[in-house]
Amino acid sequence: MEKKKKNLKEDGIGIYIHWPFCQSLCPYCDFNSYVSEKIDMDSWSAAYKRALRISATQVDSNLVHSIYFGGGTPSLMSSRLVYEVINEISKEFKVSSDAEISLEANPTSVEYGKFKSYSASGVNRCSLGIQALNDRDLKSLGRLHSVNDALRAFDSARQCFKTSSFDLIYGRQNQTIGEWENELKRAMSLDPQHLSLYQLTIEPGTPFFKLQQKNRLRGLPNDSKSCAFYTKTKEICKNNELIHYEISNFATKGHESVHNLNYWRYGDFIGIGPGASGRISVNGTKHETESHKNPMKWLGGVLKNGGEIYSVSMPLSFIDQAKEYAVMSFRLKEGLNIERFNSLSESKLSLTKVEELIDMGLINKSHNSLFTTEKGELLLNSILSHLLN
Ligand code: SF4
Repeated sequence: MEKKKKNLKEDGIGIYIHWPFCQSLCPYCDFNSYVSEKIDMDSWSAAYKRALRISATQVDSNLVHSIYFGGGTPSLMSSRLVYEVINEISKEFKVSSDAEISLEANPTSVEYGKFKSYSASGVNRCSLGIQALNDRDLKSLGRLHSVNDALRAFDSARQCFKTSSFDLIYGRQNQTIGEWENELKRAMSLDPQHLSLYQLTIEPGTPFFKLQQKNRLRGLPNDSKSCAFYTKTKEICKNNELIHYEISNFATKGHESVHNLNYWRYGDFIGIGPGASGRISVNGTKHETESHKNPMKWLGGVLKNGGEIYSVSMPLSFIDQAKEYAVMSFRLKEGLNIERFNSLSESKLSLTKVEELIDMGLINKSHNSLFTTEKGELLLNSILSHLLN
């Protein structure tokens, strides 16, 4: 029996559900993902539902404005499992009538064949991992789909969901700026409502990292070419009237990701599933939560007596909250709100340092907000260390 629910505030939170499995592992990926031959959907359903019931008794707010199925590859979840998780959230929380419910999907036929049933369960936003619009690069990125699969999946997503987004990766091996320009223009011809455009980064521990260590991953861009990729990306998106609302995210008006905006604005979100992290308010204090990364360890912990949904849950100091807020908010075009920073940190942001950064041409100030200039966008780490140290 779970604990009784507390008196609840209605500030609004997001819920992140992590599905840790993929059909195969991509050589650049450092997400918490695994390949497994046998997945018992009923056990996962029981664990997600129990974790949701427990978390509902802990958090100060039960108004949910976004649900996000991320991974791994959540489009490998059965339609019934997605339905059961959404249904449990509706029972345990108050889901706002216009809540955004997103699901990440890969564009293989097995997955896009389920879009209609996901939509019937309440999913209204799909984020497709297309990654490249040429078959040669899809192969070298270890993707299992072709460009034709991607186009069919996107077409199906457009028919099934209110908002459809897709991801592309640039700065790939031997990719020229001209090739990226043509690929991005092709992406624009699909009339996307939302795009996530990331530079290929080589993360420690990945197969690409190991190849790079052995000097066998050639043709990656240097810093100046990386800047040129980013500049070209912004230029093409602007020409196509996509709003650049976060470093790597572009959207038509009204199609910005509600869930990710909450995250970057440092709102509360519950993280459920292996390796999921969260930021939740408990009795008025913001906590960070972490969960066991190993899927079976997480599953066993949740289902055992007492139900362990987090491996770590601890209060955050005021200064840590302010730092986290600064790191997140500078990624957004709307920037950092000085009053919010000051109220989180319980001390004041140094206006001398702010003036210094303005003089260096790295940030601008408007009313009560600070945001990066074009030059500053490329030097975000330096801005943060100057302001926060
Ligand atoms: S499909 Fe996505 S989550 Fe899975 S390994 Fe590839 S990039 Fe990572």
